[in-house]
Amino acid sequence: KLYNEVQELKGNIRVYCRIRPFLHGQNSKLTTIDYIGENGELVLVNPSRQGKDSHRMFKFNKVFGPTSTQAQVFLDIQPLIRSVLDGYNVCIFAYGQTGSGKTFTMSGPNISSEEEWGVNYRALSDLFHMSHVRRNAFTYEVGVQMVEIYNEQVRDLLSNNGSQKRLGIWSISQPHGLVVPDASMFIVKSTSDVLELMQFGQTNRAVGSTALNERSSRSHSILTVHVRGVDLKTGSTSRGCLHLIDLAGSERVDRSKATGDRLKEAQHINKSLSALGDVIFALSQKSAHVPYRNSKLTQVLQSSLGGQAKTLMFVQVNPDVESCSETLSTLMFAERVS
Ligand code: ADP
Ligand code: MG
Repeated sequence: KLYNEVQELKGNIRVYCRIRPFLHGQNSKLTTIDYIGENGELVLVNPSRQGKDSHRMFKFNKVFGPTSTQAQVFLDIQPLIRSVLDGYNVCIFAYGQTGSGKTFTMSGPNISSEEEWGVNYRALSDLFHMSHVRRNAFTYEVGVQMVEIYNEQVRDLLSNNGSQKRLGIWSISQPHGLVVPDASMFIVKSTSDVLELMQFGQTNRAVGSTALNERSSRSHSILTVHVRGVDLKTGSTSRGCLHLIDLAGSERVDRSKATGDRLKEAQHINKSLSALGDVIFALSQKSAHVPYRNSKLTQVLQSSLGGQAKTLMFVQVNPDVESCSETLSTLMFAERVS
């Protein structure tokens, strides 16, 4: 069933919308979500408008409503994750304004609560599980890199780990080279190795910034999982790669108010998110020219966007009426690439 499901994917780009619930104490807020259909329909309502202009319909591959759980979301993408073991390259993005649930979807709110784990921990733990299940036929080696792109510069989040247990560096020669050739790569053998590494990466991310949240909303973080498989019967090998990307907040920054570093950050984010949109759009149109060179983000991911690679975009929505115009621009971005 698993393999059929993978083959049934229409094209290589899917867009899922996820709407986060109102947070505790926000229950009385007005929502912009008018309707969620079974087949990916979403109707957005703008309460400040009248008549037919007040509603707008979108169609995605799927919409996860505010009550959907981390486990439900993962179940849906599990075949995609497992295809990495068969040598596919997969990119999963979370896109949306700050506070819309990108980090919740990709990492979860709390590392110590397994039930609330997001895509990244579940994906790694599922890959370990599957490699155990297939151990009589295949052996797999799993390597992890973690980088951040901030102001068009790529930073290795797993370096300078003086006191950390070094798990071993793995050098792979791929036709396209490493995604980020210099970024540290660690072999991981268990979910606890991964948890440890990622926690370390997160603390590294905060270095030099005042507050982690502030910084993390203005940089892209990329967790890359390299999988090398050996077929024990034939000796043939496969390489697959999974990129899990928590994008910088997509909110537009008021140019008349932002100055200095803030303005520069905003311009970089804007540039890279629109470059990403352009690349995915070109791929969805099967266009001959794909403009990878326009941002660091698309350069880093080039070998995993397009070709046989599979892309999934989570479009995150905060249902609050105050977010209405950001939500509209988020959904329009997503509509273009879906
Ligand atoms: P972002 O990374 O896009 O800035 P976060 O993931 O930090 O947003 O989410 C903002 C807040 O909303 C956090 O407190 C988070 O725990 C909560 N949240 C987001 N999505 C959900 C969800 N699906 N269910 C429950 N709480 C959520
Ligand atoms: Mg976040």
